[in-house]
Amino acid sequence: MLRPFKLHEPTSVDDAVSLLGRFGEEAKVYCGGTELLLAMKEGLLRYNHLVNIKTIPGLDEVGYDQGSGMLSIGATVTHTALEHSPQIQSHFPMIAEAEGNVANVRVRNVGTIGGNLCFSEPHSDPGAFLLLFDTQVEIQGPGGQRTIPLAELTLGPFETCLEDDEVLTRILVPQFPQGMTGAYLKFGYHARPTLGVGVSVRVEPTTSDGEHIERAVVTEVRVAVGSAGPKAVRVAEAEQLLMGKTVAELLPGSNGGESSNMNEASRLAGRAADAMDDIHGSGEYKEHMIGVFLKRAFAKAVNTRQPTVQSPLS
Ligand SMILES: Cc1cc2nc3c(=O)[nH]c(=O)nc-3n(C[C@H](O)[C@H](O)[C@H](O)COP(=O)(O)OP(=O)(O)OC[C@H]3O[C@@H](n4cnc5c(N)ncnc54)[C@H](O)[C@@H]3O)c2cc1C
Repeated sequence: MLRPFKLHEPTSVDDAVSLLGRFGEEAKVYCGGTELLLAMKEGLLRYNHLVNIKTIPGLDEVGYDQGSGMLSIGATVTHTALEHSPQIQSHFPMIAEAEGNVANVRVRNVGTIGGNLCFSEPHSDPGAFLLLFDTQVEIQGPGGQRTIPLAELTLGPFETCLEDDEVLTRILVPQFPQGMTGAYLKFGYHARPTLGVGVSVRVEPTTSDGEHIERAVVTEVRVAVGSAGPKAVRVAEAEQLLMGKTVAELLPGSNGGESSNMNEASRLAGRAADAMDDIHGSGEYKEHMIGVFLKRAFAKAVNTRQPTVQSPLS
């Protein structure tokens, strides 16, 4: 049962911050409510004051600066709005596709990107695929605004570095370097993902039709894993193993071969995920599956001209 609470509707971030400061531990930011209200109904969380930040103008906007290639996403933008944003579809198609595979249509219509990142439920997608872009987040509190790397926001399951009176206001996503393409693959049987693996890669030389791609050399690569462990992480050790290798060396599968570098990168990515035993499967199973999905994500990233995501059902 949902216990009574007072709903505050500030019209600026400053007002939201001061309400959070005034009511302290009795207050919480409320956005789409898909996580918060569920936890309150279950009696897992109890707040007498909810501060609805959806009433703050501007926080529901998406902006793209052509000059800097920077995407700016307001914290209250819903997953559906991200999926359908023309700017994101044109300049960050991987994000649009990945957002279209978050949860179900009902959750996507009300759940927000800010709520997703701030709740830090381990089984989440944006925390992983946004790491491929060196994403930063803007946070506002009583002392003003600070900007931190997304990688520093989540400390662990359901735990962030946010103070009680701070609000995440904006997510800043820089465009991939020229020539880089990416793929985010997720897998799972339940509503939330069992694991997610993202790879972005730049190879040289490039050809417009992808012909002779197997001879191209990896000149930049990023690997991120999420959902399986306490938080999403980049896997620098796996990235190092893939750098400087030809696509043929890393994906010799069509000739029936195995790549020791790719196998080792897969093993390291699985380990880095710090996979936990839970209803989605054992840690050992997820560790193995992350390796399988790293190979698939890498193959998909190098073989596409545009970043893409695979549906969990495909
Ligand atoms: C059935 C189901 C399936 C799902 N499947 C997936 C999935 O496949 N992939 C996936 O990634 N996610 C999945 N989710 C999670 C979903 O994405 C989140 O529920 C949603 O994005 C949360 O946003 P919200 O606005 O509803 O957050 P709320 O419930 O309003 O808030 C969540 C928490 O974040 C805090 N908060 C919210 N916004 C801010 C802010 N701007 N600053 C500071 N604190 C803030 C709130 O205080 C609260 O503690 C699923 C959820 C459900 C219920």
